[in-house]
Amino acid sequence: MFPQASVLLHGELNDFLPEKRRGRPLTIRLPEGERPAVKHILASLGVPPVEVGRVLLNGERVPLTFGVPPASQIEAHPYGRGLSPRPSGGESPAFVLDNHLGRLASYLRILGFDTLYRNDYQDEELARLAAGGRILLTRDRQLLMRNAIRYGRWMRSKSPREQLREVVEHYALQGEIVPMRRCPRCNGLLEPVAKSAVLEELEPLTRLYYEEFKRCTVCGQIYWRGSHYERMKRWLDEVLSP
Ligand SMILES: [Zn+2]
Repeated sequence: MFPQASVLLHGELNDFLPEKRRGRPLTIRLPEGERPAVKHILASLGVPPVEVGRVLLNGERVPLTFGVPPASQIEAHPYGRGLSPRPSGGESPAFVLDNHLGRLASYLRILGFDTLYRNDYQDEELARLAAGGRILLTRDRQLLMRNAIRYGRWMRSKSPREQLREVVEHYALQGEIVPMRRCPRCNGLLEPVAKSAVLEELEPLTRLYYEEFKRCTVCGQIYWRGSHYERMKRWLDEVLSP
C-alpha cells in the first residue's frame, strides 16, 4: 500500500478539475517518506494556490505550506465572493493582465482601475509586475502557479463581458468605480482640460454641444461625456447589474 491522502475541493476550485472528477474526494499518492506541502498537492491537481482561501486537514485548519502526513483528509475551500484578497494598502487594487485579455483591460480602465496590459508581455515580466503589488488576471493557470504570484485569479470565461463581471464581483469593486479617470487606450490618468485648449481638435458638433473635456496625460487622447460615453455607461450598468 502506497502512502496516500484524500483531497476534496469545494465550490469553484472544482473548475480546475476535469468534469468527472469534480465534487468528490480524490485519492492522491504521496511520495515515500516525504510530507509534501498542501500547496504542492493542490498544484499537482491543477489548482493555483493563490485561489485557495482555506485548507482543513483532518478537520483542522492548516496553512498552505503545511506538510501532509499519509492518510490525511484534505479539504480546500475557495475565497468567498467579494473576498478575493488584494495587495494591502488603502487604494483601489491595481491589475496586470495577460496577453489574452485586451478587451478586459480596456473595460477595467474605463471603470477607473489601474490596469497594465500589453500584447507582448512575457511571462517573466507579468510575474514581476504581479509580485510588485498587482493582481494578476490570466487565462493561463501555469502562470498563476508561479511562486512569485501572491494575488491573482484565473479567468473562467473567454467572454470579456463575463470576465469583467467576474472581476468586479470577486474583488468587490462595485463601490470603487470612477469613470473618466483613466484612458482606456493606454491606462494614463485623465485630467480636465479647458475647451479653449482643445478647440482645434474637436469635430464641429462636439464643439457645439459639449463644454467639459479631459485629456490623457500620457497619449493626449481627448474625452468628453458624449453619446459614446452614454452608450458605454448603459452597457456597463447592464453588465454589472446583479
Ligand atoms: Zn492615453
